[in-house]
Amino acid sequence: RMLYGSSRLNSLGVNLADPAEREPLLAKIKQAAQQRWVGGPIVKGELHEARGTEVRNPSNRTEVIGTVREADIALVDKALAAAVPAQVEWDGVSASERAEILEHAADLYEERMPELIAYCVREGGRTIPDSISEVREAVDFLRYYADRARNEFGAGVRLPGPTGESNELKLRGRGVFCCISPWNFPLAIFTGQIAAALAAGNSVLAKPAEQTPLIATRAVQILLEAGVPPDVLHLLPGDGATVGSRIVADPRVAGVAFTGSTETAKLIHRSLANREGVIPVLIAETGGQNAMIVDSSALPEQVVFDVVQSSFNSAGQRCSALRALYVQEEIADRVAELLAGYMEELTLGDPMLLTTDVGPVIDPPSCEMLRTHTEKITRKARWSHAYKLKPEHEQGTFFAPAAVEIEALSQLTGEVFGPIVHLIRYQAHKLDKVIDAVNATGFGLTLGVHTRVDATARYIASRVRAGNVYVNRNMIGAVVGVQPFGGRGLSGTGPKAGGPYYLHRFATEQTVTINT
Ligand code: GLU
Repeated sequence: RMLYGSSRLNSLGVNLADPAEREPLLAKIKQAAQQRWVGGPIVKGELHEARGTEVRNPSNRTEVIGTVREADIALVDKALAAAVPAQVEWDGVSASERAEILEHAADLYEERMPELIAYCVREGGRTIPDSISEVREAVDFLRYYADRARNEFGAGVRLPGPTGESNELKLRGRGVFCCISPWNFPLAIFTGQIAAALAAGNSVLAKPAEQTPLIATRAVQILLEAGVPPDVLHLLPGDGATVGSRIVADPRVAGVAFTGSTETAKLIHRSLANREGVIPVLIAETGGQNAMIVDSSALPEQVVFDVVQSSFNSAGQRCSALRALYVQEEIADRVAELLAGYMEELTLGDPMLLTTDVGPVIDPPSCEMLRTHTEKITRKARWSHAYKLKPEHEQGTFFAPAAVEIEALSQLTGEVFGPIVHLIRYQAHKLDKVIDAVNATGFGLTLGVHTRVDATARYIASRVRAGNVYVNRNMIGAVVGVQPFGGRGLSGTGPKAGGPYYLHRFATEQTVTINT
């Protein structure tokens, strides 16, 4: 158990090694996975699901897991018309009442963990251990932001002033927030953005990723069941270019919380800059070109273990994932050899099976992008190793994990969002050049360091402009309230999700001065 905030506890894990815990959980997940799910806009508490289009399982594209109806402009308008006045009421409710509702939702998420895992696996292609972590992270976000709101959005802060004057600083909601979430954490990030916006006293229009609308529908149903007023939270699934841009373009929207590509964040930023009568706030968490720097004092076995976790967990579809592995030349061959061996031991397959280490990538365009990149980069590579796909992988969007040695980081032109790691060897006296190259990408999300020399770790961490630095361990899986997560530069605006300053950006400050 891990303490965070004042007295909060992170959601408890599941011991999958214990059959008494594992087997009942697996049975419940399998039962929940029999369902055919329905998704669609939820506006003023009403689900619109008629005439939906099919949603398919990424690990078996022949399997239809449900249907989703996209939001139309009329529903976007209806949601906005309700959310504007409802926000005033919601902001007027005490922070502790809002916190209680979010905490109730957290309890419901925990209670329904098997069902939520089934959604993560079948719609998101996430493995069962990843799905467990995902539900726990969603629960942690709900409880952590509830706790922060209770502490900071309750009574205002009294400030000094001359005799006869009282001064108070209060945090208030900004208005209607649009939360645009990614498919790679279809429950955790989706829930985290909404929980923060609600905790701070905003109403919410949530636009989930096109690929994962079903779990978003289920999550909103649970949030409403927990007591979030139906006029305060609306779900509007659909395409970014139509539904997303329509919401963002509306002057009634006071802020946007976005997690996704840097390119889309810039589009949103540009759109927000054009609003008449309002300057909306943007909170963007975007991509990374994340490096790990390994010097010759590091233990190759440990390095490779952490590289595999960092690059291939979640099929490399984390913005925190390792893309550029810098290894000092003295141990580079050894690391490459061990890495190739370890990759052979991975099991790529159906994420519903506990034996699976790496599941599918999200959809055919992702798979295609990864294939094109890997073919191109491997042609010039001095060394490469790829997992061999088997016939059973053909029915899903599986991409074979790959490791490719390249000459320089500048050969990567953008974020390669999948299970591929690029190895670059360096000479000890060129460490500063490595640091410059990492900074030159313009991204600044995660950084890994492996060294047994403390001074080297401190030096690299102080020079690389990265939001989250991990020394002598893997570089994924930031824990709410423990490793506040988020980057700088092209990686995002901050503040960090799961950190003490996150809610502030969702809020506006009001100073009240009374001449008594
Ligand atoms: N917070 C996640 C991690 O630490 C990554 C979030 C993302 O991929 O957007 O791995």
